[in-house]
Amino acid sequence: MLWLLRCGGADVRRPLRPCRKSGCGALTREGYCEVHGAYREQRELWHKLYNTQLWREYLRPGQLIAEPFCRVCARAGRRVRATVVDHILPHRGDMARFRDVGNLQSLCKRCHDAKTMRENNLG
Ligand SMILES: [Zn+2]
Ligand SMILES: [Zn+2]
Repeated sequence: MLWLLRCGGADVRRPLRPCRKSGCGALTREGYCEVHGAYREQRELWHKLYNTQLWREYLRPGQLIAEPFCRVCARAGRRVRATVVDHILPHRGDMARFRDVGNLQSLCKRCHDAKTMRENNLG
């Protein structure tokens, strides 16, 4: 029905497509369905917390000094230098949890990616 679009009324609507979140399948015109669109926006908002001075100059370097090696690898008896500071409980935008140093752990990139993948599969 492409000719309809070309005739161009005010009411040109994008076609319905499945939500881009894999496994969702809800139909939407926005790439993501309502649920996952909001979820994505939230994630972007939370992500901004990692650009704050608090995180970059205090929380992250402080944690890497306190715990320079990957915690997960250490449990397996491996000594791997940590490069990622991770929240044990996801903070989900909760500032108190975000800045709680007791909720931080040092991970190497591999362990962090594995954890992120597990969390994304759940959500
Ligand atoms: Zn969806
Ligand atoms: Zn590791």
